[in-house]
Amino acid sequence: MERKGIRGTILENVPMKRYTSMRVGGPVKYLIYPLDEGDLRNVLKYLTRKNIPYRFLGNGTNVIVNDIGLNEALIRITRMKRKGYTKTGNGAIADVSGGISLKQFIKDSARHGLSGLENLYWIPGTVGGALKMNAGSFGASVSDPLLTMRVLNAQGEIVTMTRQEASFGYRASPIRPKECVLSARFSLKGRDKKEIAKDMEHVYNERKKRHPMEFPSAGSVFKGVKGEPAWKFIEKAGLKGLKIGGACVSEKHANFIVNLGSATANDVRALINTVKKGVFEKTGVSLEEEVELWGFNG
Ligand SMILES: Cc1cc2nc3c(=O)[nH]c(=O)nc-3n(C[C@H](O)[C@H](O)[C@H](O)COP(=O)(O)OP(=O)(O)OC[C@H]3O[C@@H](n4cnc5c(N)ncnc54)[C@H](O)[C@@H]3O)c2cc1C
Repeated sequence: MERKGIRGTILENVPMKRYTSMRVGGPVKYLIYPLDEGDLRNVLKYLTRKNIPYRFLGNGTNVIVNDIGLNEALIRITRMKRKGYTKTGNGAIADVSGGISLKQFIKDSARHGLSGLENLYWIPGTVGGALKMNAGSFGASVSDPLLTMRVLNAQGEIVTMTRQEASFGYRASPIRPKECVLSARFSLKGRDKKEIAKDMEHVYNERKKRHPMEFPSAGSVFKGVKGEPAWKFIEKAGLKGLKIGGACVSEKHANFIVNLGSATANDVRALINTVKKGVFEKTGVSLEEEVELWGFNG
């Protein structure tokens, strides 16, 4: 790929199994790391002019890429790091870029005695990926303490949205595939550091108890159904432990598909379809994927 004024890193034909938490997936044509917002604009101008399709990739913890790979560009803004806190009467406003690790952000805030996101501790994505998915756990969502976010839209304009304007829902946000969350502001409250640390430890211990952290996965595969967690339907359908190739419905948490070591994206995809079919036949419930499947037909 020609650089055309792009200052960041451009990698070519990189296997997505290295960049996704499920550890499956073939090569993507370009993986681009812009250095800053100006550089990102140059990248987008170039890709648009050359008609190269693109998407944004955070930490790859909610996506499954097919085995053949993607004839497109993936853009990661993980090198655009900005984080700052401005004190307010009873806490602070945190201003963070979309590419930083959510877990690290929560840790740093805790160190400053700032509370608001600790229930999301240990979700392995970036702030941008979390906002796109409206990630959540233990009854809290990343959008709860959000004040505003700056989004670069497909026309190259930066739009600032308030949380009220953004209409977040359960694992749903207004951010479309060709849009990028550049940065976000959160309102965090001052709280005793020890209390925050206690809650974070509780969240971590609960996750360790419930989630199969010892295997690669993409977290919960399916969305809950009318307030009921998807694992209940999968267990009811007797699908716990079901294997296709190297992919397995976790014995520990039925809504996780884990990679036992040799799984391909096709194994994961086939298992997702088998679970959906099995659950529908046994319970009449249609499960909907929470994970995103990239490059699969249909
Ligand atoms: C072990 C494990 C546990 C998990 N636990 C939870 C949980 O408790 N709750 C939960 O909600 N999720 C959970 N997840 C899923 C996942 O971590 C979240 O969805 C996370 O927010 C995804 O962030 P990411 O940066 O990895 O996004 P990616 O997987 O890289 O991308 C996900 C989506 O976000 C888009 N995106 C990424 N960055 C940006 C950006 N800057 N601007 C715009 N769009 C962007 C991508 O294009 C894609 O559409 C878990 C995953 C794993 C592996």
